[in-house]
Amino acid sequence: MLSSFRRAYSIAVHEALPLSNTLTLIPGGTRGIGLATAKLFARHGSRIVVLGRDQERIKHVLEKELAPIHGSNSSVEHLGFQCDVSNQEDIERTIKDLNQVAPVDYLVNSAGIARDSLLIAHASQDIENVISTNLMGTIWLNKAVAKGMMRRKRGAIINISSVVGLQGNIGQSVYSASKSAIIGFSKSLSKELGSRNITVNVIAPGYIDTDMTSSIPEDRKKAIVARTSLGRLGQADDVAEAALFLAQAKFITGQVLVVDGGLSL
Ligand code: NDP
Repeated sequence: MLSSFRRAYSIAVHEALPLSNTLTLIPGGTRGIGLATAKLFARHGSRIVVLGRDQERIKHVLEKELAPIHGSNSSVEHLGFQCDVSNQEDIERTIKDLNQVAPVDYLVNSAGIARDSLLIAHASQDIENVISTNLMGTIWLNKAVAKGMMRRKRGAIINISSVVGLQGNIGQSVYSASKSAIIGFSKSLSKELGSRNITVNVIAPGYIDTDMTSSIPEDRKKAIVARTSLGRLGQADDVAEAALFLAQAKFITGQVLVVDGGLSL
């Protein structure tokens, strides 16, 4: 009796969640900002699909980070696919497999790499990797999910850029190029998809405390904090909250939401 009450209660709570019966695709959902977003959207009822290159890490995220959110009674099964977003064929194969499961309602594209160097010393391979992962990956992923969203006349896409894409930075010319291009791309796509009730927005984070920024020396981190109005580095959850807001915003599209604690003011 008690267990059937608990089961009914958990189903009722789940159905009341704002993102119930939706699917959120999160390339880069295995770490940092993407992982925080995956957990937040899961807590709001969405089924999560993470993409990353590391199979062990995907397994860890599914079993240790996402499964505990709903407990063992849940009917929500989160998924993970090994997929290199710099490879168009890999993306198309993954989205084809995913479409057999369920259509994508939200794309939060957080997969990205940084390879910092002054341009004259920048290794060609690093330049290609940054552009193919950050920019081409974004383009292929948006293209792959857009068709399904257009057919269903619903969807929200959130691409992660950077304040460096707005302002530039020494040692980050190529990274900045990839992140600026995401903004122009997303604004254009928002115009193409708006009539189908699909929003496309961009988040431009400042410095966020993740694996990506872990190698920044302490004195540089202190200097960044000193220039940040809110007096701290950002946390992955700060960006996840912004992604959740944009996913649910019905009349905001083609915008860049800066999440940097005031760093770029
Ligand atoms: P992390 O390094 O913590 O995570 C990056 C994620 O991207 C990982 O899940 C990684 O998975 C995935 N990834 C990288 N390359 C590929 C690829 N080729 N194919 C599939 N997945 C890939 O970085 P953050 O969470 O900090 O960054 C997330 C996004 O936010 C990035 O686009 C970054 O440029 C942007 N950003 C970050 C800022 C920061 O200060 N941290 C500031 C501004 C923007 P795996 O390694 O398992 O494949």
